[in-house]
Amino acid sequence: MNRIAEQYVKLVLAVGEQDADYVDAYYGPGDWRSEVRSYRKPLSTLESEASSLLAELGTFDTSNAEEPVRLRKLYLTKQLQSVLTRVQILQGTKLSFDEEAKALYDAEPPTRSVQQFEEILRQIDIVLAGKGTLIQRYEVYKKKFIIPIEQLDRVFSAAIDECRARAKKHIELPPAESFKVEYVRNKSWSGYNWYKGNSYSVIQVNTDLPIYIDRAVDLAAHEGYPGHHVYNALLEETMVKNRKWVEFSVYPLFSPQSLIAEGTANFGIEVAFPGKERIEFEHHVLFPLARLDPSSAEQYYKLSDLVSKLSYAGNEAARRYLDGLCSKEEAVSWLTNYALMPRERAEQRVRFFEQYRSYVINYNVGLDLVRRYIERRGGTPDNPIKRWKEFEQLLSSPRVPSALR
Ligand SMILES: [Zn+2]
Repeated sequence: MNRIAEQYVKLVLAVGEQDADYVDAYYGPGDWRSEVRSYRKPLSTLESEASSLLAELGTFDTSNAEEPVRLRKLYLTKQLQSVLTRVQILQGTKLSFDEEAKALYDAEPPTRSVQQFEEILRQIDIVLAGKGTLIQRYEVYKKKFIIPIEQLDRVFSAAIDECRARAKKHIELPPAESFKVEYVRNKSWSGYNWYKGNSYSVIQVNTDLPIYIDRAVDLAAHEGYPGHHVYNALLEETMVKNRKWVEFSVYPLFSPQSLIAEGTANFGIEVAFPGKERIEFEHHVLFPLARLDPSSAEQYYKLSDLVSKLSYAGNEAARRYLDGLCSKEEAVSWLTNYALMPRERAEQRVRFFEQYRSYVINYNVGLDLVRRYIERRGGTPDNPIKRWKEFEQLLSSPRVPSALR
């Protein structure tokens, strides 16, 4: 399989030459990238290469092999299927939102009804009782929780230090691991981890829109510890360095790996801060650092929990918009009405839909899938040691989404 793995890496790099968002990370041999750049293959050639690699991989009998080898074959198969799909999409193949989610992310996003969102909105309406529309009241309320720009770096640094300390207690991180934070503008996302190899990441924070206090822990845990940075560093250690499985030195963004990556990064926030620990940390450390009123932390996070239950309204907006069932303006209104996003945030989100399409499901479908998987294996909130153990194992193994169900 090593030879197929090498072909897979070169194939992903070649697709990346024609799709700027495709290669999220690559830290394998530099001459493979030069080789790919020296001759630009047409998409139709890349499509047939993906098909032949899949056919060849199918002939490997791993039924008597040890578990990691069986997982490796399944992982390569699912990843290659996603490469094939992405190349077909780049050549003009039209898939529905649900077909695309299945083909690229090995997942079946559920459909949620307007009534379900309305029920959650009713609960938020009670918390934020007053004059004006709900979104107006929500925007006014949230204004009190913006991190002043001059405090941003101190607040993020404190959140990162705390998340790193918490992750280190339970996961053996590579000794030299580190990352740096950069502040950027004009992006359709709010944060991004660029993994560079050798346990090093560059984490970018988009400052186009106001940054609220909850972003500090979300960003530190999701992009850093125990999220993307740790996930990439552990895969590099266990798969690339120890096993010499080169396929893990490349990370194609539009692939099943992203569902595991986003799902674990989001679930990692709950793992790092079980129960009331997050509110305590926010109250005692981050709110004072951000010069915000600590006595409001508890209510803010209760409300945030309610609002996060609206995340599937984002999937519905993306599905409707990408399937051509509503206009851009209607998608923005949908996000404002059902996902409670202020207009500018909603517009940024629709730009995200246009750039990354059904990728949106990876955050919430991924979170729910990972949570159920870890808890089914005994990693419940009342058993934090087991929860961290199962989480670390998931981060260090080549699991595919459909096998977590
Ligand atoms: Zn992420």
